[in-house]
Parts: sequence; structure tokens; C-alpha cells
Amino acid sequence: MTEIKLLLPWMLLWGLISILCIVAIIKAVSSILAIGGKKCPMCKSRVPKNAKICRYCQYKFEDN
Ligand SMILES: [Zn+2]
Repeated sequence: MTEIKLLLPWMLLWGLISILCIVAIIKAVSSILAIGGKKCPMCKSRVPKNAKICRYCQYKFEDN
């Protein structure tokens, strides 16, 4: 039974690492999906569809 007690903190650690990995993957996927947004007319950079200000050149979008 002592072996299980020794393994438990490692299992918790690996669980935490795997959760962090999943969060990182979700963030990466959402950023890839945001690429399909709109194009800034000033700097020609892709910004999220609902963005009001360009994050690259601070251009203010008139629409929505
Ligand atoms: Zn811009």
C-alpha cells in the first residue's frame, strides 16, 4: 500500500501537466480559428472577427 501512496503525488502532478497541455491546445486552436477573422485595412494583418481595434497598428474598425 505504501507504493500507491508514493505514486499518488506523481499521478496528481501528471494530471496537472496534462490539464495544462489541454488548455494550451485549446488556446492554440482558438487562435487558429481567430485567423479566419477580418483583415486590417491599414497593416493587412489578420485580427479576430469581433475586434474593434487592430492589435498590430491600433487601427479603429468602423463596422460593428
Ligand atoms: Zn492593423
